[in-house]
Amino acid sequence: MRALSSVSDRELRERLTAAVSAERMAAADVIYHLVELDRRQLYREDACSSLYAYCVERLGYSEDGATKRMRVARISQQFPQILDELASGAIHLTGLFLLSGHLTEENVDRLLAEARGKSKRQLEELLARWFPKPDVAATITPSVPEPAQAELSTMSGAGSSGPPPAPPVPAARARVEPLSATTFRVEFTASAALRDKLEHARNLLSHAVPSGDLAALIERAIDELIAVETKRRSGTGKPRKHRQTKPGSRHVPVEVQRAVRERDEDQCAFVDAEGRRCSEKRFLTIEHLEPFALGGPTTVENCCLLCSSHNAYRARQVFGEEHVARKVEEARADRDAAAAEPAEPTEPAAPAAPPERDAFQKVQYALVHMGFKATQAKRALEELRRRGVEPQPAPLLRAAITVLMP
Ligand SMILES: [Zn+2]
Repeated sequence: MRALSSVSDRELRERLTAAVSAERMAAADVIYHLVELDRRQLYREDACSSLYAYCVERLGYSEDGATKRMRVARISQQFPQILDELASGAIHLTGLFLLSGHLTEENVDRLLAEARGKSKRQLEELLARWFPKPDVAATITPSVPEPAQAELSTMSGAGSSGPPPAPPVPAARARVEPLSATTFRVEFTASAALRDKLEHARNLLSHAVPSGDLAALIERAIDELIAVETKRRSGTGKPRKHRQTKPGSRHVPVEVQRAVRERDEDQCAFVDAEGRRCSEKRFLTIEHLEPFALGGPTTVENCCLLCSSHNAYRARQVFGEEHVARKVEEARADRDAAAAEPAEPTEPAAPAAPPERDAFQKVQYALVHMGFKATQAKRALEELRRRGVEPQPAPLLRAAITVLMP
């Protein structure tokens, strides 16, 4: 390649145009590859908990770059024509990202046509015309400006699977922005209830935090929350009666849990063929290396922390795709059955009432699938057992939800 300094002005322009065109084609090609990689869930094999983590950790994209590509990849499965817009340069990646939350079968053709050739600013104006937002309501402390849509926090959109992204929520997203080496600006939208609680805490702690400084107040609260949660998980603190684990029980004793969490440093322990470890620190569970179902013992050596993504990956490897699909189907059927019970107990009890243990177990399963923590669900069901609630899935589920969401 000749040094650029020696090419003519005309040739320089031509070369640049060709390079940009190649860059656009490559950008569309990258998205195309991401879609297939996502479909095969190959990121799991490479020790990443999500496509987003893969984009950042394995492909070296910035958090913003990863979020945009991931979102565009997901939406391109529904509207493959957007990749043509990207490859031809009609709509840039940021533009497609902005559009992604608004495209529907009805508006896709018109919206894409109007979006062609527009800058980011022009696209934001276009979207504001198409999808006007209500005026910002007056609040007592209107201190949080709504960030531009493209400035999505890196903490959002990091999910590994699920339906295409929902339309943007009107509330501003949380942002953590470094101000200096030791300070950060943290912004988020609080509900009125949280505002009242903050006020309440500020008053209660007026002696301990005389300045009423919100950061100091929240740091104290978070410290206490971390201490409580750590204690709850590790069982430190109160000396417990040593509970003998019944043979055949799936229960992981608290000492084993603590040792595994310490050894794995609260991080997914999955390591890929090249020795790279998954960086996920959220949604971790303790799993058996040699599966419990195949007789693996519940010992520190045979247990490890896994993120939900790698837990599913291992289950597929050990038990096969079919088994996992069947388990998912069973859980769904259980949940649907529980939900489909009539709201009013108009019929007499079914002739073959399932044993009580089954109903409690089913409802616990259903609650966990609805997003409650297993411990929460268990506690609520124990409460209902004490109250003597009828051990049938439907009434039990309704009562449990009332306990969990008063
Ligand atoms: Zn993992």
